Amino acid sequence: MPDMKAFETEALLERAQQDCAPVFARFAQTEQTVFARVLLQMQQAQVGARHFAPSTGYGYDDVGRDTLERVYAGVLGCERALVRPQIVSGTHALCLALFGLLRPGDTLLSAAGKPYDTLDSVIGGASGEGSLAEWGVGYRQVELTSDGAPDFAAIRAALSGDVRVVLVQRSRGYAWRPTLTLEQIGDICALVHAQCPGAAVLVDNCYGEFTQPQEPSAYGADVMVGSLIKNPGGGLAPTGGYVAGRAALVERVACRLTSPGIGGEVGSYAASYRPFYQGLFLAPHVVSQALCGAALCARAFSLAGFAVHPAYDMPRGDIIQAVRLETPQRLIAFCQAVQAASPIDSFALPEPWDMPGYAHQVIMAAGTFVSGASIELSADAPMRPPYIAYWQGGLTYAHCRHAVGEALRAVCGVK
Ligand SMILES: *Cc1c(COP(=O)(O)O)cnc(C)c1O
Repeated sequence: MPDMKAFETEALLERAQQDCAPVFARFAQTEQTVFARVLLQMQQAQVGARHFAPSTGYGYDDVGRDTLERVYAGVLGCERALVRPQIVSGTHALCLALFGLLRPGDTLLSAAGKPYDTLDSVIGGASGEGSLAEWGVGYRQVELTSDGAPDFAAIRAALSGDVRVVLVQRSRGYAWRPTLTLEQIGDICALVHAQCPGAAVLVDNCYGEFTQPQEPSAYGADVMVGSLIKNPGGGLAPTGGYVAGRAALVERVACRLTSPGIGGEVGSYAASYRPFYQGLFLAPHVVSQALCGAALCARAFSLAGFAVHPAYDMPRGDIIQAVRLETPQRLIAFCQAVQAASPIDSFALPEPWDMPGYAHQVIMAAGTFVSGASIELSADAPMRPPYIAYWQGGLTYAHCRHAVGEALRAVCGVK
């Protein structure tokens, strides 16, 4: 790859942005659709200033909490949602859903290949203290086809009577594969429901929310799970996760979160739910900005000669952009440039480290207002060939564009 001068980088960015114009217009349409749904739900729930009052103790009748859950359920197209600051992360939300829905003797089937890395220990890897395996829950997975699509014949063959939950990860996570489309998720749901009526389809919706006009629930998903410091928190939610879906199933998960017999009726929050509401209000726009940033990143790096996934003009079902940098030096330079272009901790220099829950060393650039929030611009990468950077988030397109330029310059400066 040639050494690029500053003006060349700027010209490349300008051209990439022009190429992206029709793509940006599609994202704006999706934003409008999702925004209308968010606004309508807030209005129908009659959200008012009283919902921003904190609560303490058990939190019985916390209207801020209950109303936020009603709004979320409506926005996500579900009967019920559990939306809690006490759910500490996306992994925790997934873990709660799995333990809530599965019982000893049941089998969990992953229909979209290996799930997100942090689920290894939950399912029952070597270090899975308290894992599903320890509780007598079986596990099988069906690999995706070589082009990253669900293998419907293999899923059909794997659906035996002991399968109680079918896990579908919508986003690519740390994998060089396409996001599952809503249509593909719908086809998996139809197959599971026809062949295994007792099984629930659980969609790991992390990074997927609001990237498309509809959510997986509209295509038959029984339960969806996500993190509030990703898409639906809009950059303002300070922590939390959600589990949304059919009421009876969400109730089982609520009983796992707190206690059987208590479920979702308790849980106080001494801070205010205001940033959760405001974040949800902003989320359709923030996700749209992040999508524009991802498309620009894709176009710019592909013009500079790198393989990217997805291509800038491909449909997107998550906010992740993978850029294949081929060498560890470039990968580190990319992540360090994103960090240096951050509003927070721009002076910190990220290095690869052994992160809990991940099998490889990971380098993470995250100069964020909310610690670790990946709806804010961030870049992560496991340190393994072919040295793929995963770019995600961005609260504003201007920030994304700036950081794409910095990352381009940095990567072009090393072998
Ligand atoms: C981020 C993510 C998770 C895990 O969420 P954490 O909040 O990092 O624990 C799970 N699945 C997918 C697809 C994700 O993107």
